[in-house]
Amino acid sequence: AFDVLLVGGGPAGSAAAVYAARKGIRTGMAVERMGGQTNDTMAIENYISVLETDGPRFAAALEAQVRHYGVDVMTQQRAVELIPATTPGGLIEVRLENGARLQSRSVILSTGARWRNVNVPGEQEYKNKGVAYCPHCDGPLFKGKRTAVIGGGNSGVEAAIDLAGIVSHVTLIEYGDQLKADAVLVAKLKSLPNVTIHTNAQTTEITGDGSKVNGLKYRDRVSGLEHQVELEGIFVQIGLVPNTEWLKGTVELSRFGEIVVDAKGHTNVPGVFAAGDCTTVPYKQIVIAAGEGAKAALSAFEHLIRQPAA
Ligand code: FAD
Repeated sequence: AFDVLLVGGGPAGSAAAVYAARKGIRTGMAVERMGGQTNDTMAIENYISVLETDGPRFAAALEAQVRHYGVDVMTQQRAVELIPATTPGGLIEVRLENGARLQSRSVILSTGARWRNVNVPGEQEYKNKGVAYCPHCDGPLFKGKRTAVIGGGNSGVEAAIDLAGIVSHVTLIEYGDQLKADAVLVAKLKSLPNVTIHTNAQTTEITGDGSKVNGLKYRDRVSGLEHQVELEGIFVQIGLVPNTEWLKGTVELSRFGEIVVDAKGHTNVPGVFAAGDCTTVPYKQIVIAAGEGAKAALSAFEHLIRQPAA
């Protein structure tokens, strides 16, 4: 059995693995894809001390550091069930899709999240070629350019306000008949001179020249007419979904499906900790996920040393 088992190997899981392994305890990691979402990132310019890197390079560096400390890394493994310990301080079990069962004295959940796609033609083709999901990350790449935000909830409207200060013009596309964001945000958005809002607008296609985005098509759901907007960037803001479906009923989740953690990364299950984008911790960013991972590992260590000697 492991002392600490990480489920997930993005920035949160990797930081947790390094912190755990450096305590000299048996550390395992079950992970589908090493590096997680960072693999899909074109440019990373906000990880402190690193002026600029790209996703695949960042992901490879995470893996190299984790392996350097002798972590038992099991890649292409998908966890499907968590079984809490039956006695205080007992072993926790993680079941994998391939039928294997891993046992550990503590578990850190770091399965991250995924951005919901609009699922229209052009979205996959132009991902990272004008189609983006994270305004904090990629907003500056569109400095002075025309962009759209798809989604008029709080995250979409916040993104539009944020982008309006960087890009030349923002078109906000909302499917429903009104923006769903808080009134104060909507008022702020409407006060900005370089923002156009379309409600009742269904995105139908993201267009491009073969190498990058050049526009967006939407259908006016009232008139039925198709419209085309010329632009260079599109931010899809229709939800970030935590990868926690497999934990439903075992670990306390928020109404958004995020694992509820306290300031030290404890979940409601003894010996089970969580970190990163899969948790209730706000602002989904690499530097935050890594910090939370380190914290969860230290909490797991604290938990282990407080167990009575066997
Ligand atoms: P993730 O990176 O999502 O990693 C989750 C890990 O869990 C992966 O290894 C995955 O394979 C694994 N996993 C999931 N489910 C299971 C399961 N059931 N069993 C086993 N393993 C599982 N942030 C920035 O700070 N700067 C940026 O420039 C930036 N750009 C971004 C660009 C894009 C396109 C995207 C999508 C995100 C970007 N982000 C950026 C956000 C950043 O990538 C995330 O905040 C960060 O990766 C979260 O780390 P994490 O470890 O919590 O989760």
